[in-house]
Amino acid sequence: MAFLEWTSFIANNSSERGVEPDYAAQRKEMVDRQLKARGIRDPRVLAAMLEIPREEFLPPHLRHMAYIDDPVPIGFGQTISQPYITALMVECLELTGEEIVLDVGAGSGYHAAVLGAIARWVYSIEIIPELAEQARKNLARVGREANITVICGDGSAGYPERAPYDAISVAAAAPEVPPKLLDQLNDPGRLVIPVGSLWDQELRLVTKREGKIESRLVTYCRFVPLRGGNGWAFPD
Ligand code: SAH
Repeated sequence: MAFLEWTSFIANNSSERGVEPDYAAQRKEMVDRQLKARGIRDPRVLAAMLEIPREEFLPPHLRHMAYIDDPVPIGFGQTISQPYITALMVECLELTGEEIVLDVGAGSGYHAAVLGAIARWVYSIEIIPELAEQARKNLARVGREANITVICGDGSAGYPERAPYDAISVAAAAPEVPPKLLDQLNDPGRLVIPVGSLWDQELRLVTKREGKIESRLVTYCRFVPLRGGNGWAFPD
């Protein structure tokens, strides 16, 4: 976080005195300064992020950091993405409201909530059981669980049970696009995924249309690693 953001964050952080900050105002400022100002245009994405109370997806002691311009820890060595990255990824999928979406890496459930506000149904898969449970609780607390199924499992192999998906969003970095995710992508379909090394990745938008696969660079990024059979191998 930049120094100026820290100072305004501390100045505005009245939760220390037992009073909740004005999260609705912070949310609007986030949408204006972090999303609109950087080129996010899709009105559905902007409306969803203006509506969903991001503070409810953070660990209670960090909820006052809900609208900072950075990732925030959510436990188990994982992070909730910077708001701009969530917006950019969802915008890339060009959702209209009819889609069945696979979200790999549920984490806090926030990204799934944004997808669910726009798409018809979201299957959100998380490999860490405690986080899957937390995501379920967070989504229920804000009344967003109606069209979101949280599954605990290895999403590096997708979730074949409900394939094909009109859109797939992967929130953890893979060494390459897992072929099983491409197999589970509908035609036409759109897949957004960070691909590269453990430290630096390209956020790539992969599209399938009439059997043809195309991939383009969206931006450079750094995500936590995708684990599991088609991700990075880590000793437990
Ligand atoms: N989208 C989340 C943040 C994701 S952080 C949010 O809005 O909060 C990336 C998440 O991917 C972590 O929770 C991590 O545990 C999970 N993850 C890593 N590898 C995975 C895999 N193979 N299958 C499912 N989830 C995985």
